[in-house]
Amino acid sequence: MREKIVVMSEDLSNRIAAGEVIERPASIVKELVENALDAGATDILVQLEGGGKHSVKVVDNGRGIERDDVPLVFERHATSKIYTFEDIYEIDSFGFRGEAVASIASISVIEILTRREGSLSGTRAVVRGGRIEEIADAGCPVGTSIAISDIFYSTPARMKFMKGDSTEQAHCMDAIMRLALSNPEVKIRVVSKGRTILAVPKAVSMSERIALVFGEDFGSHMLAVEGQKGDAKLRGFVSMPDRTRANTKGQFYFVNNRFIRDRLLNHSVITAYRRLIEPRRFPSVVLFIDIPAPDVDINVHPAKMEVRFKNAGEVYGLVTETLIKTLAGESVPAADSSGLSFGAPADSYKGGVQNTLKRYTVLSGPEKRIFGMNVSERGAGRMPDSSGGNKYEKKPPDFFSERDVPQETMNFSSLEYLGQIAGTYLAFSSAEAFILMDQHAAHERVLFERLKASSKESPPVQGLLLPEVVNLQPGRFDLLMHYTEMLREIGIGMEQYGENTILIKQIPAFLAGCNLETLISDILEEIRDTGKADNVDEIKDKILTIMACKGAVKANHTLTDPEVAALCKDLDSIPFAATCPHGRPLYTVFGIRDLEKIFKRR
Ligand code: ADP
Ligand code: MG
Repeated sequence: MREKIVVMSEDLSNRIAAGEVIERPASIVKELVENALDAGATDILVQLEGGGKHSVKVVDNGRGIERDDVPLVFERHATSKIYTFEDIYEIDSFGFRGEAVASIASISVIEILTRREGSLSGTRAVVRGGRIEEIADAGCPVGTSIAISDIFYSTPARMKFMKGDSTEQAHCMDAIMRLALSNPEVKIRVVSKGRTILAVPKAVSMSERIALVFGEDFGSHMLAVEGQKGDAKLRGFVSMPDRTRANTKGQFYFVNNRFIRDRLLNHSVITAYRRLIEPRRFPSVVLFIDIPAPDVDINVHPAKMEVRFKNAGEVYGLVTETLIKTLAGESVPAADSSGLSFGAPADSYKGGVQNTLKRYTVLSGPEKRIFGMNVSERGAGRMPDSSGGNKYEKKPPDFFSERDVPQETMNFSSLEYLGQIAGTYLAFSSAEAFILMDQHAAHERVLFERLKASSKESPPVQGLLLPEVVNLQPGRFDLLMHYTEMLREIGIGMEQYGENTILIKQIPAFLAGCNLETLISDILEEIRDTGKADNVDEIKDKILTIMACKGAVKANHTLTDPEVAALCKDLDSIPFAATCPHGRPLYTVFGIRDLEKIFKRR
């Protein structure tokens, strides 16, 4: 550290500000499209090269920029959206901080072409590292075109954090989809490598835009919600409880039309679904909350992704109460403005949960194959890989007493099966111990080991008589196609069927009956998060974990004695079986000493 304090140069402070605002190409896309929307555009074109890493171009038909104002666009704290501090409490534009374009300019090369309505000529300017290199009159249509290239050239360290093209492109598409969701009246087209990957016409209703994200048939698995509490209003759609995801990425929250993230809103939603869905599964929701502008502070976060509510309790209460009512079948609007009808939630999701459980088909008789895989060869599996860095990092359960029952010698088949508790846990005894097992975790571990062991050759597969059509969100399609070969190796055979649609023709046999759309969406989210193409093995392992979880018998499912026997035999055939692939314990052992302690005999 140096002793002397100096005021940062403008270039340095801009680059530092860019670090906050511009995390990745998707942030640039978000800022530019928001500016186009703020300029009143009704038609927006986004062009991406290299997933947005090489260049991002946004062309709009908005009101354009006056020649004299063009240099100001690139200056920090220059905005046309607020003039006094109080204005931010009545703001109806996305931007107001006046720093997005200046931040982008400090780390890239920008070419802008813009014309105001009524102006005879437009303006063209080239800006490098925040400095205007060229500016001159130029002919162009009314509106603005901003092309960004050489992204992060002045902050090469940031460039190293970028993932593969398809992952970055998927992030860009996420940003665009969020804006498309909240601005249905705007036409949006996205072109990547010369190919149109998204073309959304001006929509006549919210439903049309929601179908973009959740598929044309979203009305069959989502419910419309509507509610009001005090000055706060809520509307949107939420998934029926049998359509859940492994994470919260199917959740979209908008406050006064601005996409935000808010942990407490996630929590309010989960509260409404409590007891309707399994733990660690999440519903999909698109919720629009409208509150008077003075009741919400949007100036909390540089990318404006967080807000602070004046009456937080009222907002969270509104969400939970409205969702609880909707899920209970009350006040479900029968149709929205587009005439799409939404059946009452009925019993369909309760039946759905039961159905997924039914696919645990075990043939009776000890010699039969179970779980669609051969269980005979002991030790075929490899050691489980617990290095995945998951948050349940394994630790022997507290009651586990190695002196009494060393885990290496645990022979599940030799235990006496006592019975099932709550349809979820299996109780066993041996001469010297009492053992409790989590049936889902145990089966998951077995499937995972089998899959891993067989991932050199394909697992037993099953062709689908009726191949399943799965619609993907634009942007997700390219990402999935990138991994076609790897998915085929692990038993999922698919091909392109149409724009953003795939046909699944073959799946691993043990996944028969599983909801393939959910499977593919969980896999995609995993791929997107893990990212880079050079992480193929890591991605593959994660996909195997997802598949094992989907294929494994769930909690709340009665197992027959032969099924329990088969599960034990399988556990004996894998070398180490103390945790599930997510790292949760499979079983816990109460040794004699533990029992003595419980009954205070020592
Ligand atoms: P902010 O959006 O917070 O005002 P920006 O740095 O994003 O700050 O943009 C600075 C200013 O440049 C805006 O206030 C607006 O006047 C002008 N501007 C940027 N993009 C466009 C566009 N596509 N059309 C018209 N004006 C634009
Ligand atoms: Mg802006």
